[in-house]
Formats: sequence, structure tokens, C-alpha cells
Amino acid sequence: MDVERKRQEERETVREIVKLYCHGHKHPREQGKELCPSCQELAAYADVRIGKCPRMEVKTFCSVCPIHCYAQPEQERIQEIMRYGGPRMLLHHPIMALRHMFIQWRTRHGLRKQEAIH
Ligand SMILES: [Zn+2]
Repeated sequence: MDVERKRQEERETVREIVKLYCHGHKHPREQGKELCPSCQELAAYADVRIGKCPRMEVKTFCSVCPIHCYAQPEQERIQEIMRYGGPRMLLHHPIMALRHMFIQWRTRHGLRKQEAIH
């Protein structure tokens, strides 16, 4: 899979999860907007981080990446959102969720193998 396509998929996945979280918590949204202003801000932040991610080519999603390039407050919020939205993704977007989980699994598996070598 090429890097830019993966980058785009990661962006879409993050956005979907933020959307589930925002709607699930019934955050007040302006008419016609997908997200409330605060979730919109976080989604935009994630978007920028994904755009700058130097590890995209090793097929790591941000949630399993050892670098954790998010600043502390955003990191905590995105983790909370992932905890909420991750399992719900299986209901709403099973294919997207399964692909994400498969890549996570493969990444963790690969990391463990690397550790065993050292
Ligand atoms: Zn929200």
C-alpha cells in the first residue's frame, strides 16, 4: 500500500472515530457541521500530525506508534476518544475497523519480534 493512501485512510479513520465520540456524547453542533467546535479542533490537529508523520511508511497507526508525537492534552483527549470510538467502529464501519485492527496487530507483532532480536 502506498504511503499517501495509507495517510488518507488514517485520516478518515480518525475522523470517523471522533465523529462517533462527538455524536455519542451529544456535543452541541452548529447546523450542517459534522463535529462540535472542540472535536473539530482536535480532528484538525490529528490531521496535521498525520500529515507530518515520519513513520507512515512503516505502516503504524498513531495509536500504536512508539513516538507519540501528540502534545500532552491532545494525546489524552485522542486516547479517550479512541477508547470510546474503537469498539463502536466495529458496529458502524466494520471493514475500516477490521483493517485498522489488523494493522495494529501486525505492528505489535512486528515490534515484539524486533524486541526479541535485541
Ligand atoms: Zn464534540
